Amino acid sequence: MTVVVLLGSPGAGKGTQAPVLSHHLGVPVLASGDLLRTAVAKGTALGREADRFMSRGQLVPDETIVRVFLDRLEQPDATNGALLDGFPRTRIQAEALDRDLAAAKRRVDRAIYIDVPTEDLVRRMANRRICSANGHVYNLASNPPLVPGICDIDGSAIVQRPDDNEATVRARMTEQIPPLLEVVDHYRKARVLQVVDGRQPIGELSANIIAAVRTPVPDYHPDWQPAG
Ligand SMILES: [Zn+2]
Repeated sequence: MTVVVLLGSPGAGKGTQAPVLSHHLGVPVLASGDLLRTAVAKGTALGREADRFMSRGQLVPDETIVRVFLDRLEQPDATNGALLDGFPRTRIQAEALDRDLAAAKRRVDRAIYIDVPTEDLVRRMANRRICSANGHVYNLASNPPLVPGICDIDGSAIVQRPDDNEATVRARMTEQIPPLLEVVDHYRKARVLQVVDGRQPIGELSANIIAAVRTPVPDYHPDWQPAG
């Protein structure tokens, strides 16, 4: 059983890399948003509990989210483990996950942090465009449409989401990066962390992430700083 946590800022490439790594490891991707929606749709006891918060627009408490993950880890397709995407988001969640996994005689075997400097992330996000008809995603720098301004797939106009403008992106980073770095540090201290430079082409990044799952974790250096 291998439990791997994939960590990275919004725009670092987790969404692209999670399916590749999941396929390589032969384990499912467990993403918090999907798990909560599924639990709510199935009307399980946990799903109803989560829904009481979500329907009021409140955050689902850490303990509930951890239980949703543990519940999902019990499913047959997760016998060999799972890849956690978008969870844990805070040190408190990471500690709760450790506690509950330990009770089930499991642990987080490896955490992979896709490290990308904040300025690179802002630039990536500012280049993000979506098509107005179906939300197909483009990036003016790394994945532009064949004809400028036109979706390759449905021919609709390509636009920038208000959420992707630079000021909004920066505000989101300022809010999300400090708790993420606390989670990164949590796994570094637990000696299960590997840091992968996220400023590489997608294929090379995939290869390096897969290698990072397989190779031993380097010694803990208390003075290490992330590139961002
Ligand atoms: Zn489209």
